[in-house]
Amino acid sequence: MGRSSKDKRDIYYRLAKEEGWRARSAFKLLQLDEQFSLFAGVRRAVDLCAAPGSWSQVLSRKLRGKEPKDTEEKKEEPKIVAVDLQAMAPLPGVTQIQGDITKTSTAQEIIKHFEGQPADIVVCDGAPDVTGLHDVDEYIQAQLLLAVNCDLRPSCPLQIFRGKDVTLLYSQLKIFFSEVTCAKPRSSRNSSIEAFAVCQNYCPPSGYIPNMSNPLLDHCYDVDFNQLEGPNRIIVPFLACGDLSAYDSDRTYPLQLDPSKEYKYTPPTQPPIRPPYEQACHLRKNNLLATEDSPCRPLDGAFSNLHL
Ligand code: SAM
Repeated sequence: MGRSSKDKRDIYYRLAKEEGWRARSAFKLLQLDEQFSLFAGVRRAVDLCAAPGSWSQVLSRKLRGKEPKDTEEKKEEPKIVAVDLQAMAPLPGVTQIQGDITKTSTAQEIIKHFEGQPADIVVCDGAPDVTGLHDVDEYIQAQLLLAVNCDLRPSCPLQIFRGKDVTLLYSQLKIFFSEVTCAKPRSSRNSSIEAFAVCQNYCPPSGYIPNMSNPLLDHCYDVDFNQLEGPNRIIVPFLACGDLSAYDSDRTYPLQLDPSKEYKYTPPTQPPIRPPYEQACHLRKNNLLATEDSPCRPLDGAFSNLHL
């Protein structure tokens, strides 16, 4: 037991150690590449949210392991930039930037490294520190991804949380990419809501200027939307309304919110005229509901006096 128990439980954890990957996540990128041939012709790559570095390892092995074919390619060594909030142990051929991917300054550093040229691929396995509140986690994750999208353009596999609002994220990504596929590598546990949005064919609205002031990002309160012109105005900002102290419509509260007062039923202002539960009310009122002793109460004709 002890040290070997995780090996027994998780095949990818064990394989990662055996094959020298820093994390089992390496298999997710490798499996995404098997499906989408992500690295064909790639010379400039960005790994966002890279620590501890297994995706950077994959990039390094895939891009640097290849022999350049022609002289033009030979001149240009592949460039790989890895960004994370946390420090990461060095990797051959990988430039590290310790920073926040949602910050303009970080994007500028990456662009500087590529001497103004766009990256060929951006991979992002970013995951916020999960709160356990699915809606919040999904939202923060989506914000991370939209930040990725604002300044870097090429095809990208991006980690997403498949929560209830995932279609909103897809439609936002579809503004920038003609193909967006949701992929779940086998190495990603079924029990996890994690999946990857593989975005291909970068085709932003014509005239769109990539910038971190994308109104899809909630931190852009300082942006004057009226200043945005042409296609930059097409993007509809999304705002969640109501502050955190507002009641949560998914929660159950006690009948009497003020414990010093007695609960008093208030009838609806306008009761429904013909509600769908009318039938059930009739059955209950006339003691016709099925019971354990009498599972099949007479139904025929029971509603003849109801206009259903
Ligand atoms: N792909 C990595 C690998 O293969 O080793 C694992 C990435 S880990 C699942 C998620 C990383 O996202 C963490 O290291 C975390 O520090 C990073 N992260 C979360 N929010 C970030 C942000 N705003 N900027 C940069 N990195 C961030």
